[in-house]
Amino acid sequence: MAWVTGHQLRLYNSLGRLTEDFAPSADVVGLYSCGPTVYAYQHLGNMRPYVFADTLRRALRWKGIAVRHVVNITDVGHAVADSDTGEDKLELAAAKELRSVEEIAEFYAQDWLAALDALNVQRADVYPRASAYVDQMIEFAKVLEDKGYTYQLPSGLYFDTSKSAGYGQLALLDLAGQRETGRVEHVEGRRLGSDFALWRAEEPGVRRIMRWNSPWGWGAPGWHLECSVMSMSLLGAHFDIHTGGIDHRELHHVNEIAQSEAFLEDGRPWVRYWLHNEFILLDAQKIAKSAGHTLRLADLVESGYHPMAYRLFLLGGHYRSQVDFTMTAMDAAQATLRRLITRVAPLRPLPPVETLDEARALADLADDKAALAYVEAIDAAIASDLATPRLLAILQDALRDPEAGAEGLRVVVAAADALLGLRLGDLEPAEVDQRRTPDDLAPGERAAIERLVAERTQARAEKNWSRADEIRAELDALGVQVTDTAAGPTWQLR
Ligand code: AMP
Ligand code: ZN
Repeated sequence: MAWVTGHQLRLYNSLGRLTEDFAPSADVVGLYSCGPTVYAYQHLGNMRPYVFADTLRRALRWKGIAVRHVVNITDVGHAVADSDTGEDKLELAAAKELRSVEEIAEFYAQDWLAALDALNVQRADVYPRASAYVDQMIEFAKVLEDKGYTYQLPSGLYFDTSKSAGYGQLALLDLAGQRETGRVEHVEGRRLGSDFALWRAEEPGVRRIMRWNSPWGWGAPGWHLECSVMSMSLLGAHFDIHTGGIDHRELHHVNEIAQSEAFLEDGRPWVRYWLHNEFILLDAQKIAKSAGHTLRLADLVESGYHPMAYRLFLLGGHYRSQVDFTMTAMDAAQATLRRLITRVAPLRPLPPVETLDEARALADLADDKAALAYVEAIDAAIASDLATPRLLAILQDALRDPEAGAEGLRVVVAAADALLGLRLGDLEPAEVDQRRTPDDLAPGERAAIERLVAERTQARAEKNWSRADEIRAELDALGVQVTDTAAGPTWQLR
């Protein structure tokens, strides 16, 4: 059993909707995170689950707990609209882009991994691809069939949710009432709306590109099967933590649990802790306009933001809170990052710190009581269901503390960054874009700009075009770009 040190790590478990003490059940904690379906670019929102899982991994490591992390890559079996029938997302993308499904999957998987690298997300131990596990998925479905949990229809093999004790517990489904789990399309012959496909048979006259032979005919596996099969195959029958976006709590994870517990039939919960991140709200309209497609990390980088600024933006909100993504918030994150790096750079090199025990030992060595207190506060924050906003505030407090000595501060910064992963130890100030944002201006500077903008508005209202042009030139010289909108003028720094 791993030795857990410091404040008790507490995590919010979707199973029961309670914040609970986390106790590892093995020397190496098994952690499975639902990964992307690689048929298109991943947008800014779906970076959050992996930064969140990365924070969790860092927190476990900080507590001295070893982790084996598996993140799947869905390259087959995910039908359009998350349904049980219809076209496969990858096949559709391949047809549209005139590329093979393998090329599509590889291209978008690599793009996704590159984005995670840029966000300083530690690589998982394994990224299994669903297409490599189809034989095992068929074997798994056969076991369920032998145990009497399934029925066959012309459209495929279905899991009979009425046979599953405790079906829908994770979603808090009302079993006495209806058992439907959200998006349910009509499937001919399906007994209950909550029953789901384990195998999707080819429709008559349709030949899929990705097709396998099975006891239920040619076709492809159901979407939920891969996560049960790959997690058990790589982490063992039972493991400690399963993560994913909040949208998975109601359907995908409910079905993963139902089929896994039916497969195991050992009367134990399959996975002990289910953690879900809330959504990042993207203003679809604004983003579609600015980028011509859904905004992704590469777009931010192209606009001069550092990927660490997006990581900082994410960590500035708790993973269970919905957060609005706005360019104003990005500007603030970029300015905060620049200030942080500028403040931290003179303290380098930082000592290597990954765990609480290491941080404590170094603070002791520096004989710095204040630093030790900051380290304990950092530990309390992360132990409290990964309270990264609090952790950031503690780091800022330490950096502003006039009493803090350099030796102790080095330890505090290294400790904070073991959990935040903001590259505080090596990110060069020059790497972070030097472009100023309004947040970087001194209050006087900002007031002067606003006064000029107001004067220009006044001149325009008076149709004094030459004066308005003069002011625009003046603002231009200050690096201020004015844009006239229906709601009045706005300005930004170049
Ligand atoms: P998908 O490829 O659509 O399965 O999405 C990959 C992951 O991103 C899933 O865990 C989703 O729950 C999650 N996700 C999708 N959109 C968002 C969003 N706007 N904010 C946070 N997570 C999201
Ligand atoms: Zn999954």
